[in-house]
Amino acid sequence: MDTDCELVTIPCPHCGKHLGERLDRLRRDAQLICSACRRISHVSTHQLQAALAFALASRRNAGKREGRLRLV
Ligand SMILES: [Zn+2]
Repeated sequence: MDTDCELVTIPCPHCGKHLGERLDRLRRDAQLICSACRRISHVSTHQLQAALAFALASRRNAGKREGRLRLV
């Protein structure tokens, strides 16, 4: 499955703000600059995988919700 353009959300370890970033960008350069506190954090491979799993799961759930709405 192609997940390069998947948008993942990583919480800033310094201030807790959730930062959205594209997966292909993080794979090339696993650094995030927080838009709230301006500090740089390093995203580990483990964090990337967890964020991707979460993004895919929430997309599946959103699809299910839309399906139910269309039936009503
Ligand atoms: Zn921050």
